[in-house]
Amino acid sequence: MLARAPGVSMTDFLVLGGGIAGAAAAHFLSVHGEVTVLEAEAAPGYHATGRSAGLFSAYYGNRVVRALTAASQACWADLLTPRGVVALAPHGAEKEFAQALADGLTAPLPARELPLDEVQRLCPIVRPGWYGRAMFKAAGLDIDTAGAHHRMLRGVQVVTRARVTALHRRSGLWHASTTNGPFAAPVIVNAAGAWADEVARMAGIAALGLRPLRRTAAIIPAPDRRAVDRWPMVADVTETFYFKPESGGLLVSPADATPVAPHDVRPDDLDVARAVARFEEVTTVQVARVCHRWAGLRTTAPDDTPVVGEASGATGFFWLAGLGGYGFQVAPAVAELLAALVTGSSGPRATRHLAAPLSPLRASIAANAGRAQ
Ligand SMILES: Cc1cc2nc3c(=O)[nH]c(=O)nc-3n(C[C@H](O)[C@H](O)[C@H](O)COP(=O)(O)OP(=O)(O)OC[C@H]3O[C@@H](n4cnc5c(N)ncnc54)[C@H](O)[C@@H]3O)c2cc1C
Repeated sequence: MLARAPGVSMTDFLVLGGGIAGAAAAHFLSVHGEVTVLEAEAAPGYHATGRSAGLFSAYYGNRVVRALTAASQACWADLLTPRGVVALAPHGAEKEFAQALADGLTAPLPARELPLDEVQRLCPIVRPGWYGRAMFKAAGLDIDTAGAHHRMLRGVQVVTRARVTALHRRSGLWHASTTNGPFAAPVIVNAAGAWADEVARMAGIAALGLRPLRRTAAIIPAPDRRAVDRWPMVADVTETFYFKPESGGLLVSPADATPVAPHDVRPDDLDVARAVARFEEVTTVQVARVCHRWAGLRTTAPDDTPVVGEASGATGFFWLAGLGGYGFQVAPAVAELLAALVTGSSGPRATRHLAAPLSPLRASIAANAGRAQ
């Protein structure tokens, strides 16, 4: 622990942001010293982390994301339950289907093509005839997101209502001015989600061109009061909708990805209407009402791969951002790797080779960084 300066709360590691990224960073760093999480809101998890669809899918994302997902699975083992994903190809989407199936075949539990009549056995409301091919992905699991977030924050000091408003490095320490007092530490971790570029600019560090993308979700009642809990998630390979059991009803989404500025995002009525219209098109159900609706920001780097590592020319400033639509899938693996980079150790065997593709210095980010100022 560092010596305390009057009026400034000092610690070994300051983590900016209390979502799943910041929580996981705090969890893995707490082995190496004292950690304080600074969270702008009244409760951690208020933004993207509290708004997820709760899927942990071995098939989702690019090669790096899948490796991170595989490396994270053991950490969440008791929080995962079988769900399964049926991915359908509308007529005309044969190319996308072939690509998705080829990708799915490389997963540890490979995707398999389904006979068309098998789809209604798994989910009886899917409208026969509108799709031409179907596959089943058994290793698409549900994750208890609240339990995962809580686990990572256990024993960690979180200061809420502490929005970071300025960052300076002086005498080997990062000083953070916040709405809940001043803090200092030799190392800071930027886990501010959609605001991560904004936080970097406060420190005089080049933004990475992260893009917050709005995604909408709504809960509708179970059709005809059926027991839907065992139905799989149903999606299409062209990513125009998905639905899955949630809280006794169905979560429906138009799989939207609308670029917006970072803010406390609300659902757009048109997106909710699109979710319902698409659901009615692909199923035999008429939706009588929407019980609950929300939107959240999935924030991605230009290559849709998380960003983990020290900023160029800024000793002690580490990125843990750009978790996109995969935050829960990858959080343990990216945070463990981050802790290794912070402490100068070689990192876990399963993921140390990913330090380069995750680095904030990688070419795909450097090419964009100039435009992101
Ligand atoms: C509708 C939807 C469905 C999703 N479904 C899935 C899914 O099925 N599976 C999956 O793995 N992922 C899913 N995701 C993605 C997942 O939710 C995100 O990847 C993850 O929550 C990102 O976590 P984060 O900690 O980076 O960001 P956030 O949870 O947004 O946390 C960032 C935190 O930083 C704080 N902050 C910002 N600025 C400051 C500041 N200046 N000072 C202090 N604090 C600050 C914010 O208040 C916030 O709490 C989904 C997302 C959405 C929106």
